[in-house]
Amino acid sequence: MYQVVENLNNIINEIPKSVKLIAVSKTKPVETIMHIYNSGYKIFGESKVQELIRKHEEMPKDIEWHLIGHLQSNKVKYIVPFVSLIHSVDSFKLLKTINKEALKIDRKIQCLLQMHIAEEETKYGFLFDEIEKIIQSDDFKALKNVVICGLMGMATFTDDEEQVKKEFTYLRKCFEMLKSKYFTQNYEFKEISMGMSGDYRLAIDAGSTMIRVGSNIFGIR
Ligand SMILES: *Cc1c(COP(=O)(O)O)cnc(C)c1O
Repeated sequence: MYQVVENLNNIINEIPKSVKLIAVSKTKPVETIMHIYNSGYKIFGESKVQELIRKHEEMPKDIEWHLIGHLQSNKVKYIVPFVSLIHSVDSFKLLKTINKEALKIDRKIQCLLQMHIAEEETKYGFLFDEIEKIIQSDDFKALKNVVICGLMGMATFTDDEEQVKKEFTYLRKCFEMLKSKYFTQNYEFKEISMGMSGDYRLAIDAGSTMIRVGSNIFGIR
């Protein structure tokens, strides 16, 4: 068996069935990703739009593609026809653009709102208050072609497990608060995308429903 397939299966066997694994294939060649596809697994995540488009063109069309990296508004139109879930919605402007482009082709696009939970300055994402403000706005209520499925976040890159745990627990708490305040009748708001190669076990313990794992499957980049 190919090593990447073995790595993938080891993770699948280890995590609860309720947690969805996104195989993060960024920087990896189509040939390698096809080993996994041919084993029957079809859920992949990419962080760059150009690369996502190219791989979507070159690979079988029944792949479920997730965008996990920063998305510029002017590139939305290229991925809206095929993307399954955008994890990285980090501005209201972007969300409105996704809605506009989705409306043009009569699709509904599933989105997660990315929250800033890490200590690092550089990571993208909303603060809790910013999300509340958006949700309460009339502009938001008018968006009919995006489906808000939950939240996404990245913990601080550190060996300090307590720190990481604290950040994941905070994201989970934000999710619960938004759910009970704004989405009680909405069963689509159900995902917490958190956990990468180094910290997915902690994320699952804190309530993750989706983990995004790259290097533990494909090797170092
Ligand atoms: C690259 C990336 C991942 C996967 O990272 P690994 O440490 O290789 O598992 C997950 N989420 C995002 C947003 C990424 O950019």
